[in-house]
Amino acid sequence: MEQRQIKVNRIETKSVMTKSNAPLGGYAVNPYVGCPHACKYCYASFMKRFTGHTEEWGTFMDVKEWPEIKNPGKYAGQKVIIGTVTDGYNQLEEGYGRTRKILEELKDSGADILICTKSDLVLRDMDLLLKINKKNMLTVSWSINTLDESFKNDMDSAVSIERRLAAMKQVYDAGIRTVCFISPVFPGITDIEAIIDRAKDQCDLIWLENLNLRGGFKKTIMDYIAEKYPKLIPLYDEIYSKKNRSYFEALENKAEDIARKYGCRFVDNETPYERVPQGHPTIVDYFYHEEVRGTANSGKRNKKKVSVKVT
Ligand code: SF4
Repeated sequence: MEQRQIKVNRIETKSVMTKSNAPLGGYAVNPYVGCPHACKYCYASFMKRFTGHTEEWGTFMDVKEWPEIKNPGKYAGQKVIIGTVTDGYNQLEEGYGRTRKILEELKDSGADILICTKSDLVLRDMDLLLKINKKNMLTVSWSINTLDESFKNDMDSAVSIERRLAAMKQVYDAGIRTVCFISPVFPGITDIEAIIDRAKDQCDLIWLENLNLRGGFKKTIMDYIAEKYPKLIPLYDEIYSKKNRSYFEALENKAEDIARKYGCRFVDNETPYERVPQGHPTIVDYFYHEEVRGTANSGKRNKKKVSVKVT
C-alpha cells in the first residue's frame, strides 16, 4: 500500500452543509477537501479544479473550520451524507476531529445521517453513533469492491478490507444500520457474490454501483488493466469505449438471483429505511447511477436504459 506525504492547510468556510444532488438528496457534508485514500478511480478528484489545487490527488488536504451550526433542528428529517467527496474518517481525522465535530453538532438535529467511509476510525466515535442512533436514523456504509487485499492495495490507501468488514460487524452488532457498498464494481474483477456472501450477516443494505470511467482517471484505470489484467482489455473496451451495457445487465440479473438465493429484496434505485432480519440485506441496484440522480428513493430512473448488442 502506497504511503504519501500529505500537505495540510486549514481553511475557513461559512458552512459545512451543502445541498446535495446525489441520488439520496439532502445535504452533503465534507469536513475536508481532498482525500488521502487516493483511490485510483476517485470521481471526487474533479474537486481539484474548483479548489485551486494542482497537487496530485491524495497528496493534499484542506481541513475545514466552520462556525458552529446554530439551529441544527432545521435539518430534522433531512438526509445528511457525510463523506461524499472525501472520507471523513481519513487518517488525519484522528488528529483534527472534524467529522466528530459535525456529529456532535448534529447529534440532536433529527437528521437522517449517513456516513460513507473506507475506514474503521468510525469506531472511535461509537459513543456518539449510539447516541444519534437512539434518536434519529443513522446508517454507516463501507465501500468494499473486492476481497482481494492486493487489488485493494493497488486501488487505494485506505485500511484493509478485513478491517472494514470487522468495523461493519461491530457497528451492526451495536444495533446501527450498516451498508456494504459494492463500489465501484470492476468488470471481471469484482466478485459481487463472494462479497455479498461475506457481508450479508452484518449489513442491512447492499448497494451496487458500476465503475464509471468518464473522468480523467480513465487512462489510469485502463493502463492498470492492461498491465495487471490484460485479458480484460476487450471487455473494458466494449463497456467503456463502445458503451455496451450487456455485462452490467447480466450482473443485474445475477444480483437478482443472489437476492433470491438468500431471501433478500432486490430493488432498483430505492433505499428502504428499515432494518432487516439478519442475513437478508436489501440489495439495491445503483448501476448507471447517473440515471437515478434527482430521483431520490423513488424506484424510478430518469430515462430508460439503452441496451447495445455485442457484435
Ligand atoms: S475514499 Fe472516496 S473520496 Fe476518498 S479517494 Fe477514495 S473514492 Fe475518493
